[in-house]
Amino acid sequence: MLFLETPVKFLKYIGSARISDLKSKNIQTIEDLLLYLPIRYEDRRNPIPFSEIKPEQTQLISGKIINVNLRWARSRMSILEAIIENNKQYIKAVWFNQPFLKQVFKPDDLIWLYGKAEFDKHGINFQFKSPEFEIISKGDLPAVHSNKIIPVYRRINKTSSKMLRRIIYNTLFETEIGIEEVLPPSLVRKGELITRIEAFKKVHFPDSMEKLEEARSPAHARLIYEEFALLQSALYLSRKKKRTEQGIRIKIDPDLKDKLSSKIPFKLTTAQKKSLEEIYSDLEADYPMNRLIQGDVGSGKTVVALLSAAVTVQSGYSAALMAPTEILAEQHFRTTSELLQEDNYKIVLLTSSTVKQNPEIHDEIKAGKYNIIIGTHALIQKKVKIPNLGLVIIDEQHRFGVEQREVLAEKSLAPNILVMTATPIPRSLALTAFGNLDLSIIDQMPKGRKPVETILSTERKRDDIYKFLLKNIDAGRQVYVIYPLITQTEKSDLKAATEMSEKLQEEFIDYKVGLLHGKLSSEEKEEIMRRFKEGKINILVSTTVVEVGIDVPNATVMLIEHAERFGLSQLHQLRGRIGRGQHKSYCILMINPPGAEDPKEITLTDEARERLKIMRESNDGFVIAGKDLEIRGPGEFLGTRQSGLPKFRAANIIRDYDILLKAYKDCHWFFALPDIEKSPDYNDFTEYLRKWWRQNILTT
Ligand code: ADP
Ligand code: MG
Repeated sequence: MLFLETPVKFLKYIGSARISDLKSKNIQTIEDLLLYLPIRYEDRRNPIPFSEIKPEQTQLISGKIINVNLRWARSRMSILEAIIENNKQYIKAVWFNQPFLKQVFKPDDLIWLYGKAEFDKHGINFQFKSPEFEIISKGDLPAVHSNKIIPVYRRINKTSSKMLRRIIYNTLFETEIGIEEVLPPSLVRKGELITRIEAFKKVHFPDSMEKLEEARSPAHARLIYEEFALLQSALYLSRKKKRTEQGIRIKIDPDLKDKLSSKIPFKLTTAQKKSLEEIYSDLEADYPMNRLIQGDVGSGKTVVALLSAAVTVQSGYSAALMAPTEILAEQHFRTTSELLQEDNYKIVLLTSSTVKQNPEIHDEIKAGKYNIIIGTHALIQKKVKIPNLGLVIIDEQHRFGVEQREVLAEKSLAPNILVMTATPIPRSLALTAFGNLDLSIIDQMPKGRKPVETILSTERKRDDIYKFLLKNIDAGRQVYVIYPLITQTEKSDLKAATEMSEKLQEEFIDYKVGLLHGKLSSEEKEEIMRRFKEGKINILVSTTVVEVGIDVPNATVMLIEHAERFGLSQLHQLRGRIGRGQHKSYCILMINPPGAEDPKEITLTDEARERLKIMRESNDGFVIAGKDLEIRGPGEFLGTRQSGLPKFRAANIIRDYDILLKAYKDCHWFFALPDIEKSPDYNDFTEYLRKWWRQNILTT
């Protein structure tokens, strides 16, 4: 008897070439193979009578082989003809250049054909040309490729769909195989699931076409539910386990919270307050905090982070804040220094430039001279030793890989971790990719924000657009002009951006145009940003370095060149740089594929068109993120650097969100059952989960 863990090499039809094909898709065990689900199905149950055969349509027939004839035509082409009979009706089928079929087709055998019929050269009779076929000799096993609904698989290198069908059929129906339940019985009942073995059989060889294509047959539903239930249960247990770990407990003086909040120059939004309360209660608890703050661009995450750092410092610990770029780290350093001015805050900026300026900086940090350390990746270098670290904050976490986050976390034993992201993560992803973090959502904008108006434009209207920019600058506002990565080489992009800024300077002769890009030294970058912030630069031409986090409320117009080239979330991030103050803001998306001077010649891909449309219609980061996830899929959405997302096999978090939610709820219901931890089901299940986690999550 074989089991699901048995390597595929013990199956029939699998040799070494096949093994390496399968391995390329991570199919190593029988279970992996059975979870390689069909991409679609074909109904090959009802062969039609020969009298109903029509030209140019794919159709199914079956009959008896009467005669087989191999001919050689000119240019050494072989033609194999077979005459097939059914109910005293006859039809011809031909195959080219497959002379070996002569040995395969034997008179009197039953044959199934699936393919297109066309008129023969005399224009009188139909013949099938190179159809798919299956031969059932007397005494053979039942048909695999015909006489049923058959699965179609995505080919794996040299292993065709037909071969996969043969292998999987053999595994499920001609092999003795043990398939045990993995979910606890109560969950199987709660989820109204069919058995696992039934699900595997029916997902590959269903009895009915009903709900197959939308992956909602009972077999699909079961396998999808199972995959989500395993993940949600594992995440639940991991969160629960973290809650039993000993963390650093930060004791917060109740007066301190109010005192700190009153120092802020504005009133916190309800959503900010709620997030802060959640953070405070994590900090005060015994367990280490593992929290993700999600909030749209401009929702005010920074101040929440800084207040968390402040209470940490006031309670005698130090805090570290890591940002993805120098500009952003510098801005956080400035904001922090302005906001937390008392003597007991010792704030330092750690970036490659400050390390150059102050070679002692690492020793000073190690000696405990600072209690708020703000920096870039420079923070996670080995030589950085932060004593008494009580809180680690990671801004714009999507810019970092999982490993980088973990290195920073390891700098302190059982630290409190707060990660922030400005790309709102659709709930389906939050539940899967970040399911082991607690979630705070800032779903509210500070008062007085006016939604940004988004306008599409083409080259033809450039003069009007420039007039519009001028009008705004005359009124005292500031403007961003964003230039994308156009070519593959950074050098020529830089050239394009530089030329753009020179042209704009000529155009706006009375005003100051600045240029910001990744090749500038960080002093130069900071100088330009500072001057922009102070209003000394009126138009800032920038590559996407400006994308993250930069905050200049007086900037109210953004012109994005080649907007069709940006991803949806990126456009939203960029647009989030404006609309931060009291004045109404405008985002102009200039569509100009190269060479298209005439708007009529502009050709956009459907995807680009869709992106621009969504941008025009919505200002809501959560809506946009949801669309972006739909367009790009989870892997692309999170970025390649984000591992930690399980590779779903049966499930698809976009298509199957309904099942995900149900599995999520059911798992919580299961773990809350009275005395559940004492039940044998619980033990079996958690043991299985540990194994599943090792195999499916840790290795991805
Ligand atoms: P993000 O969430 O994108 O990081 P920031 O933290 O940079 O947003 O905040 C955006 C701007 O809003 C900043 O200028 C900040 O000072 C301001 N801000 C934050 N919270 C409030 C509030 N409750 N009321 C008014 N302005 C606020
Ligand atoms: Mg921010």
